[in-house]
Amino acid sequence: MASKPKISLAWQMMIGLALGVVVGAFVDSAFAQTYLQPLGQLFIRLIRMVVVPLVVATIIAGCAGIADTSKLGRVAGKVLLVYAITTALSVLFGILFANWIRPGIGLDLSTDSLVAKAVTAPSLTTTLLEIVPINPMEAMSKGSMLQIIFFAVIFGFGLSALGERGKPVLTFFELVGDVMIRVTNMVMLYAPIGVFGLIAFTVARHGLSVLLPLFSLVLTSFLATFCLVFIVLVPMVALLGRTPPVKFLKGIFEPWLIAFTTCSSAAALPANLKAARKLGASKSIASFSIPLGNTVNMNGTAVYMGVCAVFAAEVFGIPLSITDQATIVLMGVFAAVGTAGVPGAGLIMTTIVFTQVGIPLEAVALIAGIDRILDMIRTSINVVGDVASALVVTNLEGDLNKEPYQEGEA
Ligand code: ASP
Repeated sequence: MASKPKISLAWQMMIGLALGVVVGAFVDSAFAQTYLQPLGQLFIRLIRMVVVPLVVATIIAGCAGIADTSKLGRVAGKVLLVYAITTALSVLFGILFANWIRPGIGLDLSTDSLVAKAVTAPSLTTTLLEIVPINPMEAMSKGSMLQIIFFAVIFGFGLSALGERGKPVLTFFELVGDVMIRVTNMVMLYAPIGVFGLIAFTVARHGLSVLLPLFSLVLTSFLATFCLVFIVLVPMVALLGRTPPVKFLKGIFEPWLIAFTTCSSAAALPANLKAARKLGASKSIASFSIPLGNTVNMNGTAVYMGVCAVFAAEVFGIPLSITDQATIVLMGVFAAVGTAGVPGAGLIMTTIVFTQVGIPLEAVALIAGIDRILDMIRTSINVVGDVASALVVTNLEGDLNKEPYQEGEA
């Protein structure tokens, strides 16, 4: 048994982050790309390797573990309701802050120097239809998270309906989940080096010179997200999830940091599951809502949709009516739900919102230059929203702190 490291993992990762900033400021971008970025990519690959088996196992065990199917339906309803409300509020925060700070004002409006990325926004019908996998195995091999979740939930319902007879299969998936958590723990030993590589590369590549012209966009995004956390999420957790703010903020630190540095909610999933459980969410609710929220509940991305839409409209001189802004809220929710938990996914999904209100897609190219920084902000809040919702639903079900976290559980 490995002895407990003297410095906690979170601190090791903070040290990796600080060293990454310093080293990134001194090395050039080509060096960082050749020698430092692979260190970070290795970390992301290792974590993503864990995600599909972990999600399948935890969702199936989570759904089937709620033996009472009416409770399962009720929990699912509450989880989705909390997701829908917080996501809509998030887009609204983005719009309000962007209308207030007006980050697009004073920016060079010419689009001549911009090269629009070839992006195509999938239609809403296609997006919805594609949630249903034709072949669940194919969905797993491709890592299509929404399809995997859809299948796992249905499978979990089926397993739950088998009652006693389904127990061996349930035990099997519980054990697979436990194994994947142990694999994650091994992978996380490498996290400080991965974080170092990712941050050093980001700083070397997108130094201050890239940031400055679009500084107010970053600032608006940061402020809107910060306020969403402290005006909506933290009070919601305190009032409806009976978890004091300091305890909550401390508890989510590790997944927050992983998401911040990797820009991937999927990479932070195992740490997020553990955080929700340690803060008092029940095993079945956490195993259902955290993997689901990891893919569909993206509060940070939703804020970003609102901010970017108002910003881009301003840059291109497109006035936004109240109806346009309401459309942005609606489409922003869909876009955030459809965003995959991987770096840069949100940028592509902005096209859904932009197209709907007639914003030229060149705006995507304008934002792309600093998207890594915006991605760090939004991804870290995407994972925080998931833990917040798990705690609220667990408390509404009267199960908070009833099932203490056991070290190493899935
Ligand atoms: N990177 C984000 C995430 O993993 C998704 C996005 O680009 O908005 O949650």
